[in-house]
Parts: sequence; C-alpha cells; structure tokens
Amino acid sequence: LVSRKWRVKPTVLDLGDGVTIGEGSLALCAGPCSIESEAQMEKVMAHLVENGVRLMRGGVFKPRSSPYAFRGLGMDGLRDFHRMARARGIKIVTEVMQVSQVEEMHDFVDVFQVGARNTQNYNLLDALGGVDKPVMIKRGISGTIEELLSSAEYVFSGGNEKLILCERGIRTFETASRNTLDLNAVPILKAKSHLPVIVDPSHGIGIREYVPAMALAGVLAGADGIVYETHETPETAASDGAQTLDFDESARLIRNLRRVYQLR
Ligand code: PEP
Ligand code: MN
Repeated sequence: LVSRKWRVKPTVLDLGDGVTIGEGSLALCAGPCSIESEAQMEKVMAHLVENGVRLMRGGVFKPRSSPYAFRGLGMDGLRDFHRMARARGIKIVTEVMQVSQVEEMHDFVDVFQVGARNTQNYNLLDALGGVDKPVMIKRGISGTIEELLSSAEYVFSGGNEKLILCERGIRTFETASRNTLDLNAVPILKAKSHLPVIVDPSHGIGIREYVPAMALAGVLAGADGIVYETHETPETAASDGAQTLDFDESARLIRNLRRVYQLR
C-alpha cells in the first residue's frame, strides 16, 4: 500500500492552517531534542515564527541510551508544548514510545514520531494505524530501506494513510560520525513509495558543524523536508547538544534550504 505501484500520485499531508508535508513544498521542522521548560520553548518558538517555520519538533518522552540521562518532561511538558504552540500557529512533532501513550498524547500532537529504536515495535505501529493523525516513522538504527517501508505498511494497512518516512542515519562501521546519513535512501524511497520523505541530518551525522551541509544535501537528493535540532544554547541542552544548531546557524540554514529547494 505504501508502494508507488499501488499509488502513483505522491501523497501530500495537509496538517491544516496552511501546513503541508509532501511534494510541491519544502517542509521544515526544527526544535530542541528535548522539551525542557516553557522558557526554552518560548525562545525556540519565537525563532521559528521569525523564520516562517510552522513545524516544531521536541521530545517529551525520550528514548535514552543511558537510564541515568534526562528522559523528558512527559505529559506535563506536552500539555505546555501544545498550549504554547497553538497560540503561535505552530504544529507539534513529538515522539511516542509506547502503545499506552498513543491515546493520552493524541489531542496534543500534530504528528506522532516513531523513533529509530521503535521502528520495529509492531504493537506500536498497529496502534498508530488506528489513529487519525500523521505519523513520521524514522528508519531503524540498523534498519534497511525495505524494513522501513514494511514498518510504514503496518500503519498504512491498519487504516492510517498519513505517513512520513524519515532517513536519520544508520549504524555502520564508521566511527567518525554518530551515524551514517544514508542519502541514497532518499531517491530510493521516493521511487519506491508515494509517501513524503524527510531527512534528519542532526541524528544522521551527529556533529553540529556538519549538520547544515548534510541538510542541504538532503534537499538536493530529493527530500520533501528536513527535521533538525536547534536550541538557544546548544551547550546547555538536556540532550543532543553536540548536534544542535544555535539560532544564528539555524536561521542561516533555513535561508539556504529555501534557496537550494528553488534550484531543484
Ligand atoms: C530524536 O528525534 O531526538 C530521536 C531520539 O531520534 P532517533 O529516534 O532518530 O534517534
Ligand atoms: Mn535528539
């Protein structure tokens, strides 16, 4: 069902209020790795509004490699996120980690993110198949393109056709970067599937200085959008600061992404 063989026309998701994800426009989504406080969100949202970015990412349930790391503000954080985002015309992209969260998060979310560690959590995918909101599925840590498409198929066949595929880097033998952003996946996914494809250069390379170059490369490779991490002070971010852009870097990247998209 997610194949081009079944549907030739590219899927474009309409999130309302003039926000779309899919062919015909460049979807930009930015924000901190973790939602930390109202003060933090205030700053990020002002930055996004100033630069015309309508989608904000930010985790309240964080899948951390260490159980001692910051694990997110949970539902309280999401309620604040939702209230502040609604007041500013911003749409929310945030990660759901388990089946029981789908229902409690539902009314506060615009796009459910399935994280790389949960791409093959088939119970979660089944649950999201019954939801009327878009789902962005990230590629698994060591997941193949075919496995990503199979995960999308779970949600789609469950009845939810509002899907976005996200290339976020895979684990390879390379240790010079956090992950290996597989830009090959972009044209391959676009050819195989009618679903929108988004690139996450932050997790893809994991090194702040190189994030803009890989974001721009993602657009040239044919991505329908970019999702990346930004924070007023990346050095103090509760998670993923080393791959997070400050607002100057982010503003420059937004300008360049729009310019490069025009060249396609
Ligand atoms: C994130 O988006 O902050 C995140 C945890 O991403 P991933 O699941 O790709 O590691
Ligand atoms: Mn992160």
